[in-house]
Amino acid sequence: MNIFHSCERAAELISQAMDEPLDLTDQMRLRIHLSMCGNCQEVENQMATLHALAPQLGLLDLEMGDEPDPTTEYTR
Ligand SMILES: [Zn+2]
Repeated sequence: MNIFHSCERAAELISQAMDEPLDLTDQMRLRIHLSMCGNCQEVENQMATLHALAPQLGLLDLEMGDEPDPTTEYTR
């Protein structure tokens, strides 16, 4: 198996995993990288914390785009 060694790539996968399930290969690569790289373990912890807090802070509303944008009512 081709194991990536790039922390940049690992961060991408961590971020992606917060939004959607990774495919098995990427999951395994990420797990393997995290098992070797304390730096990226911290990144994952921080992202998981941020992601857990985001709904409470209302940050997800900005990304989802499902809700009507309140500012459009003013421009109409
Ligand atoms: Zn790393």
